[in-house]
Amino acid sequence: MDCHTPEELSGVGMTSQRTRNRMVERLAAGGIRHARVLEVMAAEPRHLFLDEALAHRAYEDTSLPLGLGQTLSQPWIVARMSELVALAEPQRVLEIGTGSGYQTLILSRLVRSVWSVERIAALQSRARQRLKRLGAHNVNLRHADGGMGWPQAAPFDVVLLTACASELPQPLLRQLRDGGVLIAPLADSEGRQWLTRVRRRGLAFDHQRLEEVRFVPLLEGVIR
Ligand code: SAH
Repeated sequence: MDCHTPEELSGVGMTSQRTRNRMVERLAAGGIRHARVLEVMAAEPRHLFLDEALAHRAYEDTSLPLGLGQTLSQPWIVARMSELVALAEPQRVLEIGTGSGYQTLILSRLVRSVWSVERIAALQSRARQRLKRLGAHNVNLRHADGGMGWPQAAPFDVVLLTACASELPQPLLRQLRDGGVLIAPLADSEGRQWLTRVRRRGLAFDHQRLEEVRFVPLLEGVIR
């Protein structure tokens, strides 16, 4: 018996639950263990965070262009960073680099509240519409240079950067609560990027280097 849904027959099968389940199976096979992260990524519509022309590729394990020189991270990276955030069991998370808003959405389903900063106004307004439509009411967005953090909402349990820094902006470290963690791609002196977890202990910051990654750079200033 043919068991295609009407949706798949009409050509939007790439956005179906089955496609998402396959993505999540690949994530689990690739070492993602956090059950809630897998559950959330199986449920949320990644294809709505891309231009229509690219939406059919949303569940491939690849990064994809968002326009304006920015990229939506590949699913594995979103899963890995979400897992690192979730392991810290945070309530308040600051994200630098809203981009499409996809990572923001996943975070919003894992923690009590998310603050997310984006320097490019056009990306931010698209992300705002998507997040509103998907009912992510525990997300606060701001158009600003994320290097300044969000002092009015500090301290945060976790700070997550989705763009690569060579040096961590001091305000982000200061806005971390004692015992909190910052997760970021950090570039070494040869320009290689490493996903890094920094834990605050009083005035000390312990760095733990995780896997090699590739992100767009953290840039200063804003684009209107
Ligand atoms: N998490 C995003 C990935 C976007 S790529 C997603 O899921 O789609 C990284 C984003 O960081 C870009 O949108 C870029 O404009 C933004 N960015 C870079 N430097 C920034 C800064 N200083 N402040 C805020 N956003 C920044």
